Amino acid sequence: MNIHEYQGKQILREFGVKVPNGYVAYTVDEAVEAAKKLGSSVTVVKAQIHAGGRGKAGGVKVAKNLDEVRTYADEILGKTLVTHQTGPEGKEVKRLLIEEGCDIQKEYYIGVVLDRATSRVVMMASEEGGTEIEEVAAKTPEKIFKEVIDPVIGLSPYQARRLAFNINIPNELVGKAVSFMMGLYQAFVEKDCSIAEINPLVTTGDGEVLALDAKLNFDDNALYRHPDIVELRDLDEEDEKEIEASKYDLSYIALDGNIGCMVNGAGLAMATMDIIKYYGGEPANFLDVGGGATAEKVTEAFKIILSDPNVKGIFVNIFGGIMKCDVIAEGVVEATKQVGLEIPLVVRLEGTNVELGKKILQDSGLNITAADSMADGAQKIVSLVSK
Ligand code: ADP
Ligand code: MG
Repeated sequence: MNIHEYQGKQILREFGVKVPNGYVAYTVDEAVEAAKKLGSSVTVVKAQIHAGGRGKAGGVKVAKNLDEVRTYADEILGKTLVTHQTGPEGKEVKRLLIEEGCDIQKEYYIGVVLDRATSRVVMMASEEGGTEIEEVAAKTPEKIFKEVIDPVIGLSPYQARRLAFNINIPNELVGKAVSFMMGLYQAFVEKDCSIAEINPLVTTGDGEVLALDAKLNFDDNALYRHPDIVELRDLDEEDEKEIEASKYDLSYIALDGNIGCMVNGAGLAMATMDIIKYYGGEPANFLDVGGGATAEKVTEAFKIILSDPNVKGIFVNIFGGIMKCDVIAEGVVEATKQVGLEIPLVVRLEGTNVELGKKILQDSGLNITAADSMADGAQKIVSLVSK
């Protein structure tokens, strides 16, 4: 789960990580009020969307007085920002962060992630802050320093100091940078983050070490123990179909293609997407209905696929193990009864209760193209949607 920058900064504050003062604003008037309350000589108006790259896209503006705050707030609120992380359709700005402007001396990068290769949390740092870290990693990987963190000991002060020296934090600020990193690591662990990225971390003219940006993502599997984080979820930022899917505990990711996929098991779902692509098609979604899905869950899953106007055909690819083929068939029939089916449907069923499943589909009178194998099914649906 993702949250907004201003929410991330609030969490960081609780862990003693320094961030500039600021307030969220939903309207232009609230933005001006917030700037008055801050009373700083320079105010920054920042678009709050779940994507980075806002600066370059015109979503971060420096205002020198209240009139400018009003002008920028008016300009950014309601605007659809297109950044390298939003995709071409962009994201509409509905909230702003009105923040104290800082006198930046230098921008750095600090990120905390889980490294699956070592099964450890890793803190990464670079003196190339403010820019895209992916670019730094590609062009000048020697400028990224890493510390692998022992889960029992946690981040050691010596590791934080080593990072601070490696990225050339001025000597007199190393102590502050170390406490910053310790706080950031603590926040990452206690809040079950999957990513905590500060880009940029800055040193300021008055000798502070501050997080100017904050991107915190959380491990969905741990959200049950963080009701305070769940509260921060902003449904405006999520795909409607994905929200619907999460209500039924379905693993669903919307994609750009036109072939809807209903599959059981994440591995089979990935393989199905691959084989569709292999035969020249484009999947419209990733969907794993899971092992123990009920007919009701399958019905909802199928309805979600049908609700996507980009979907021009559906490929149901099921290997019934724990999941039974007849349950899938029932779900498909029920969903089409409820919302109708006007596009081609290719079904490949294999495994437990396969004969019963096929019979349910046959008896339903639906116009279904049966497939004998994955490859056969993929080829059939690709050719049906390209007609
Ligand atoms: P994004 O990563 O989405 O572009 P950032 O929050 O990193 O957004 O802001 C982009 C740039 O704007 C920063 O690198 C920094 O130079 C500047 N900036 C952001 N917040 C402030 C602030 N409070 N004071 C001064 N400059 C800021
Ligand atoms: Mg940034």
